[in-house]
Amino acid sequence: MHDAVFRNANLATMRQGSPYGSIEDGVIAITQNRISWVGPRVEWSGKAREEHDLRGAWITPGLIDCHTHLVYAGNRAHEFELRLKGATYEEIARAGGGILSTVKATRTASEDELFDLAQRRVRQWAREGATAIEIKSGYGLDRDTELKMLRVARRLSGLKVKTTFLGAHALPEEYQGRADEYIDLVCDEVLPEAKKQGLVDAVDAFCERIAFTPEQTRRVFDKAKALGLPVKLHADQLSDLGGAALAAEHRALSADHMEFSNEEGIGLMKGAGTAAVLLPGAFYFLKEKQLPPIDLLRRHGVPIALATDHNPGSSPLSSPLLVLNMACTLFRLTPEEALAGMTRNAARALGLQASHGTLETGKQADLAVWQIGAPAELAYAIGANPCAGVMRSGAFRREVP
Ligand SMILES: [Zn+2]
Repeated sequence: MHDAVFRNANLATMRQGSPYGSIEDGVIAITQNRISWVGPRVEWSGKAREEHDLRGAWITPGLIDCHTHLVYAGNRAHEFELRLKGATYEEIARAGGGILSTVKATRTASEDELFDLAQRRVRQWAREGATAIEIKSGYGLDRDTELKMLRVARRLSGLKVKTTFLGAHALPEEYQGRADEYIDLVCDEVLPEAKKQGLVDAVDAFCERIAFTPEQTRRVFDKAKALGLPVKLHADQLSDLGGAALAAEHRALSADHMEFSNEEGIGLMKGAGTAAVLLPGAFYFLKEKQLPPIDLLRRHGVPIALATDHNPGSSPLSSPLLVLNMACTLFRLTPEEALAGMTRNAARALGLQASHGTLETGKQADLAVWQIGAPAELAYAIGANPCAGVMRSGAFRREVP
């Protein structure tokens, strides 16, 4: 006896082997928060305590946003406005703009203020069918604020949250000219404390000319490894610093951005099981010109994940569905690749592939229900939200808050 069964549904299981792994006129059964049966109706002969008729709606795995900076205070709308009025970079910096303005606001905000802001934001993801999200620290850049951000991320409800420590995001003002000393603080004090308090699932770093060098990134990764934590990398967004190879060398879960990554690094990623996370929102918002190397990723068989990169500076994007569309229009992914990018491959980028990302027996019952006629509509439409409900850990909510 199953706990619940959803019938009269079309299933995009996102299992590999057929387009969308789709099963038309399918049945999915749930028992104790896990998928206990999935397949075509003609093969179903089970019984369930609870029955739901989905009247031809589509079910996909719940969407997974595997790269966000969602916990922060303030925003950068003023900076956006100044830039569009023709202000120079220096003028914006003088007016208090840039990442350090977000650091200042986040340091000042109380933990409850930060929590309220973030909890309000995540509701938008749930409304669009997301059931899991990754959230990075990195606007504290000091011990107490980094820990505060991670605690806030851990408290959020409505979605499964994976936390990533990104102490090596930017150099705080008080360490200008002393980047190595700041990396000492990150490695010797902040990261071990975050780990000790159980606040961190993975470790990330921003390896870029305007942030940290490959050498400094290596130190952070070595510390993460010593603490038994997996790593991820903001790699090759603005220039090719060998980020893809560096991520592969440390068997990173993912290398993210990757606009300037080279083929050698991409080949190494395949061998290391490292996923590529592409972020079309930042590409769009910054009006970047350099496309990520999609064909190389395809040719080498590197799994391509997609994410909002939600952050107040370069990607104030709160719509997983718009990410699917942008990945197709800007990066020329197919709608199927895009959906895989926010389900199966996003699970992989978070190390969740054993329990999330596809509709398969034994996996977590995290799924989304859509009023659509075909899965391609999810990436095709702009600004429509056909989500009719989400199920997380077996609890179905037709009314998404
Ligand atoms: Zn990012």
